[in-house]
Amino acid sequence: MAKEKIVGDALFLSGSLALDLINTEMIVRRKKRDVLSSPDDLAQWWQAALAHHPEHDDIAGNETPIDWTFDLLEEVKRFRQSLRSLCTYLVEEQTTTLPDLEMLNQILSLGYQSVQSTPQGEVISVYRVYDQQKGKILLPIALSALQLLTEAQRQRLHKCRNERCILFFYDTSKGGTRQWCSLGCLNRSRSMHHYQQRQNG
Ligand SMILES: [Zn+2]
Repeated sequence: MAKEKIVGDALFLSGSLALDLINTEMIVRRKKRDVLSSPDDLAQWWQAALAHHPEHDDIAGNETPIDWTFDLLEEVKRFRQSLRSLCTYLVEEQTTTLPDLEMLNQILSLGYQSVQSTPQGEVISVYRVYDQQKGKILLPIALSALQLLTEAQRQRLHKCRNERCILFFYDTSKGGTRQWCSLGCLNRSRSMHHYQQRQNG
């Protein structure tokens, strides 16, 4: 039970849907843990992700529910891997090249922006997808990544300072001084520091 609590706490702390997907891989008690280990896990994660990022729940059209298959799971994981490398380049201040961006571009091409009118007669902008099955989950994540890469401040994108932690986050604090993914990591690093000082003193 305690273990599940740690996993749950780590899931939506990054401030970005794309980073939250990357953060479904984490270290729990020094072991790598993949939150998305089955199509069911993916379905549950996606439901929670949309609740945390309602701004990305704007794909219009066909209301057929997503069929949570192993293929879809693999596709999401491939995208996750590619986003992890992209974000790693960014925090390490390396130059990204076209091949790094290729998968993101492919996924962005699954959808397009369009307009529709509301019952009140307003015209609003919505996204539509060519492929409902893949597009409905991959496009919102890709749009979030696009935002992160092109509109966000690069110096606010971080990997947690705890060396044993692999989580990313986008720092929205006023001063821009957040260094740890969570209070848990901050406290662990503080107690480690105190322990080392006692050893040296
Ligand atoms: Zn951390």
